[in-house]
Amino acid sequence: MMKKIGVLIETENGSVKESCFGMITLASQGDAGLYALAFDSPDNRMSDTLAEYGIHTIVDLGLSGDDAGKMNPDIRARAVVAAVREFDLDGIFGLSTAEGKDLVPRVAALLDAPLVMDCVDVDIEKRIGKTSQYSGKVLADIQLTGDIVVFGIRPNAIRAVASPVQTKMVSMDQNLSSPLTLVSWDGGKEDDAAVSLSEADIIVAGGRGMKNGENFSLLFDCAEKMNAAVGASRVAVDEGWVPYALQVGQTGEKVSPSVYLACGISGSIQHFAGMKTAKMIIAVNTDENAAMIANSDYYVLGDLFEILPELIAQL
Ligand SMILES: Cc1cc2nc3c(=O)[nH]c(=O)nc-3n(C[C@H](O)[C@H](O)[C@H](O)COP(=O)(O)OP(=O)(O)OC[C@H]3O[C@@H](n4cnc5c(N)ncnc54)[C@H](O)[C@@H]3O)c2cc1C
Repeated sequence: MMKKIGVLIETENGSVKESCFGMITLASQGDAGLYALAFDSPDNRMSDTLAEYGIHTIVDLGLSGDDAGKMNPDIRARAVVAAVREFDLDGIFGLSTAEGKDLVPRVAALLDAPLVMDCVDVDIEKRIGKTSQYSGKVLADIQLTGDIVVFGIRPNAIRAVASPVQTKMVSMDQNLSSPLTLVSWDGGKEDDAAVSLSEADIIVAGGRGMKNGENFSLLFDCAEKMNAAVGASRVAVDEGWVPYALQVGQTGEKVSPSVYLACGISGSIQHFAGMKTAKMIIAVNTDENAAMIANSDYYVLGDLFEILPELIAQL
């Protein structure tokens, strides 16, 4: 049993990312003490939301220096390791987001601790991470041994449940802001229009049935109205219609949104490998024998070029 768990907090525009709350709910099984490890100095609003979900201690990792130091994943990882030592943590939970994939394995490597990424569940008592293998055909239970164990959690895989507690804030002064390490930070570039694919609650995705890149504007219009992200099949990416960052599947993003709207996507095993954990699948397809229809919760049998404009008009 892990007694003290550190949860790596990701933020967006100064607020805790929604997908952190499911991860905190997962980490709060049993009676483990929960430590939120924050890279930005937490304000009152942030500590209130973290307390709402069961965080006992908020640790300001003390990276309040320049952005170069704060964003550098190498420095972040060393700051986390210092907190692990300081608070004697025996488990670390982070998200399997782009940011988390850059950080969580570094933390595990520095601690020489075992790691499972992209977990859809964790049994804390048994130290087991559940993650998909072989293109999603198998859900493997991977049991970790060691003094400290590290889990990367798939965003949105766990439903967040509020569990308010009293929380206290502690600050570390790590003075790690000078980039002494192998990675330097050249500044970030964010596409502020786009909702992150791996963390989106709703995804509208297109495949070969979209016919060309221009037609993807139908999906972008639809996504904008629903605060959704746009995804794509590999065919749409290979054809150059949309960038690779939008690919969902075995060799693309693994997503767990509440709703996945698949337009003109047949439903290959490789595509399902990336989205089968969606809570609701809606297919739009002209072929009633498409696997996407067979595996959907709801489907519309018809031409997406009629259905999407109508959907946009309704929205
Ligand atoms: C090693 C490997 C890794 C792979 N990794 C991935 C991956 O990560 N992600 C991925 O997606 N694929 C991946 N693939 C490719 C995968 O096998 C399929 O080729 C691909 O998913 C098919 O894409 P699609 O569904 O868009 O195209 P298709 O299979 O051609 O399906 C197009 C669908 O659109 C429908 N359609 C056509 N016109 C319309 C219309 N007007 N209205 C409504 N419906 C219409 C058709 O009925 C059909 O069902 C991988 C393959 C391999 C071998």
